[in-house]
Amino acid sequence: MPEETMSVEEPETFLFQAEIAQLMTLIINTFYSNKEIFLRELISNSSDALDKIRYESLTDPSKLDSGKELYIKIVPNQDERTLTIIDTGIGMTKADLINNLGTIAKSGTRAFMEALQAGADISMIGQFGVGFYSAYLVADRVVVTSKHNDDDCYTWESAAGGSFTIKKSVDPELTRGTKIVLFLKEDQSDYLAEKKIKEIVKKHSQFIGYPIKLVVQKEREKEVSDDEAEDEKKEDEEEKKEEEKKDDEEPKVEDVEDEDKKDKKKKKKVTEKYIEDEELNRTKPIWMRNPDDISQTEYGEFYKSLTNDWEEHLAVKHFSVEGQLEFRALLFVPKRAPFDLFENRKQKNNIKLYVRRVFIMDNCEDLIPEYLNFIKGVVDSEDLPLNISREMLQQNKILQVIRKNLVKKCLELFEEVAEDKEAYKKFYEQFSKNIKLGIHEDTQNRKKLGDLLRYYTSASGDEVCSLKEYVSRMKENQKSIYFITGESKEQVAASAFVERVRSRGFEVVYMVEPIDEYCVQQLKEYDGKPLVSVTKEGLELPETEEEKKKREDDRKKFETLCKVMKDILDKRVEKVTISNRLVTSPCCIVTSQYGWSANMERIMKAQALRDTSTMGYMAAKKHLEINPDHSIIESLRIKVEADKNDKSVKDLVMLLFETALLCSGFSLEDPQRHSSRIYRMIKLGLGIDDDEIAVGGDKVDEAEMPPLEGDAEDASRMEEVD
Ligand code: ADP
Repeated sequence: MPEETMSVEEPETFLFQAEIAQLMTLIINTFYSNKEIFLRELISNSSDALDKIRYESLTDPSKLDSGKELYIKIVPNQDERTLTIIDTGIGMTKADLINNLGTIAKSGTRAFMEALQAGADISMIGQFGVGFYSAYLVADRVVVTSKHNDDDCYTWESAAGGSFTIKKSVDPELTRGTKIVLFLKEDQSDYLAEKKIKEIVKKHSQFIGYPIKLVVQKEREKEVSDDEAEDEKKEDEEEKKEEEKKDDEEPKVEDVEDEDKKDKKKKKKVTEKYIEDEELNRTKPIWMRNPDDISQTEYGEFYKSLTNDWEEHLAVKHFSVEGQLEFRALLFVPKRAPFDLFENRKQKNNIKLYVRRVFIMDNCEDLIPEYLNFIKGVVDSEDLPLNISREMLQQNKILQVIRKNLVKKCLELFEEVAEDKEAYKKFYEQFSKNIKLGIHEDTQNRKKLGDLLRYYTSASGDEVCSLKEYVSRMKENQKSIYFITGESKEQVAASAFVERVRSRGFEVVYMVEPIDEYCVQQLKEYDGKPLVSVTKEGLELPETEEEKKKREDDRKKFETLCKVMKDILDKRVEKVTISNRLVTSPCCIVTSQYGWSANMERIMKAQALRDTSTMGYMAAKKHLEINPDHSIIESLRIKVEADKNDKSVKDLVMLLFETALLCSGFSLEDPQRHSSRIYRMIKLGLGIDDDEIAVGGDKVDEAEMPPLEGDAEDASRMEEVD
């Protein structure tokens, strides 16, 4: 081949990865009016690319030899119907272009398509990591030219249809960075209008940390002397550039001509067209500004640009810390928890770390504890070194102080939200798990987090209330805060455990989320009042002398029954005692102080991947409590006292026990046997002779009936011997 033709490379064609091709078709064909978000996505990609080169240059300043100025430029071209977005970011190598823009599958592609089917909005595209393809909302052909420090310049091009091409190219304008040319669809030329672009950038991208310049056409009338015309024009342009540099931090006002100061000896008026870069955003970071000058709308816009969220935040805290250490931060509570908040144990957080205005990294693990991983925002430190690495951050003292302050401010922020009942309700619905996880993990802030808890109680009606409110309603002789854990508000409210406590006028807190079990184990007390479970042993309700005496008498009176019952139940329970918590139920199962509650046992059993070996020793230690004032218990007592070996007693005790298990929130190990016992009772009630009829009409004899408890074991033992 002759030398000259070597440089003109044939474009190579690549197929889009199947799901990406599908996504592109979907984007092109979906009827969707809010197409403008494409610009936000492309600008956001540019901003990321600029972050990357700036970060690299911190350790190797020569990386910026290919261009020091970091910016994004938008160039509309009416004649060609193209909109071009240029950035001086890190750029893409040939391999990057192939991989990033089309061949490597991303989990977000499918997830986004599924979300769309489920009614999500196209504007959420950025959250799924496929924002680039939104270009096809407005363009039918996209040409991406990119120059990375490590490679030559390459051009990617695709008009969708399942494939793209890559070829080597030359673009003297592009010394480093990426240039995206959108060939707009016929009906999308609105996006070339200056006004429209300004509006979109203001709406979606005003907080991008790099200048976004729009190339605008301007006209001006000038009075110039014939011969000076040329010179003055040049001079003027230069002056303008100077001004632009000086004004870096000021908002850009429409370009103001100050002709009066200029030479007055003009002879001729001319109208000239010229193009100019107009900066559309204020690049002074919002967190560096005075909070008094920032409107809620501005915070909202910043939040959206920071997070890709389509809704505004629920609450915000903007603060600076000065003194030995200096930093500024802006923290947001979103309106919703992300879908996958607790999916991975090591969830990344959403705080971006800056050092003196330079973006360093997101997801800096040591910046905020895990339970606050739903907080979004930025932290900008004056003290950390610019070239700090992740490893160095781990032991960094400055970072630890920042972390402590962030937690403190988050808690303050939650308290502020709590002042508005409605807002707090929303917050709590979304993030109560985080608060409870915090109680479990953050010893230092446990008390403050305790203030943020809200529960339904036996006295709170339809509203949740705080423990503080509970304490304010406590009876004079009441020393403890009573609570019950369980599956639902309805279930615990109807529970036998709550009966007596309520009937004595005490309030019971209903804890019905699995995480409450963990949380309450750590919380232990609130405002000096111990938290006491009404389902565990050792529940002491304040008693009068009279009541104490009655209990002592009952204990003696029912001693034999308790012993007989314990013998029958054997290892199933640790002990059988007289209860002080029951009113209408004959008995209940309580668990020991330090073992699992029934609810905890249920939660543990539900965890499919749990190591079952812990079930044995952690499984709730059960105590059966009987109600001395209940007619069933009283009759049973009389029966037992008359004849200790009464056959029916065994069956009755087992039935009582199993029923108590169910009522107390446990599951039955052998529900079959329990139901057989019930059927037998039903038959008895109906006066059916067991020898005659069985279910289904067949005659059965005693041997086929489920044997009585205890008998069963004997029978199986005998079988083994046989
Ligand atoms: P995301 O930006 O969420 O990763 P995109 O589909 O928007 O997803 O972009 C895919 C990838 O293409 C980016 O991760 C980045 O590596 C690369 N990319 C896109 N735009 C640019 C750009 N302007 N400069 C450099 N790389 C870019």
